[in-house]
Amino acid sequence: MGDRARRKGILQSEALHQYILETSAYPREHEMLKEIREETIKKHGIWSGMLVPADEGQFLSMLLKIMNAKNTLEIGVFTGYSLLLTALALPNDGKITAIDKNREAYETGLPFIQKAGVEHKINFINSNALSVLDEMLNTNNDEVTGMQLFDFAFVDADKPNYINYHERLMKLVKIGGIIAYDNTLWYGSVAVDEEDVDDSNEIFKKFRKAIVDLNTFLASDPRIELSQVSIGDGITLCRRIR
Ligand code: SAH
Ligand code: CA
Repeated sequence: MGDRARRKGILQSEALHQYILETSAYPREHEMLKEIREETIKKHGIWSGMLVPADEGQFLSMLLKIMNAKNTLEIGVFTGYSLLLTALALPNDGKITAIDKNREAYETGLPFIQKAGVEHKINFINSNALSVLDEMLNTNNDEVTGMQLFDFAFVDADKPNYINYHERLMKLVKIGGIIAYDNTLWYGSVAVDEEDVDDSNEIFKKFRKAIVDLNTFLASDPRIELSQVSIGDGITLCRRIR
């Protein structure tokens, strides 16, 4: 991971990303978000590289506010950095349903979420994401209880399942709503020929292939409008139009 973590981000130089972080992102980062970042580095070591960087976090927060999002979904919570920034961006009666199979990681961030005073907006579901989405769809078929569709979904879990999440989200996110897929540039490797990708890391290769296939699929999906945003490790915004 070491080398790759350093290569994360597609800016011309690491110095440029540092400039953005230090000039505009860190001075504006919520105190509890800083705490989650620090605690995650302490407790989870190299896995802390999975946190969205502060500049990407601020972009997502801005997007949620522009959209007036109220009912959102997160797939892949880890220690709750993106979860807390979403909860902070939502109005007081807003709601975020957050799914992760790893409760322990979530508990690293929970005290800071509580301190930030936004825990009441969060419904954390400790489970495999695909089965939760399928369950939501089944319940949704019941016209009496018919749940409210999501305004926004942030997808940041197992990359090979993004394509499966996408099919479910085309029903669970409302028309006009946004789905944001994270890591769609996969450390820049999407632009490297498959045979030139370091194959000592099987998972990395497998995830790269999944992202490459997803990007191609999304580009021709008529149900969405699309914007590939080059921030962090790449976020693809999909706006459902039918
Ligand atoms: N969004 C977080 C980082 C998420 S890291 C942030 O930026 O702060 C990815 C997370 O996805 C991990 O915590 C992992 O446990 C979770 N995950 C991976 N596969 C999953 C699955 N099939 N179902 C639910 N969660 C999953
Ligand atoms: Ca991510």
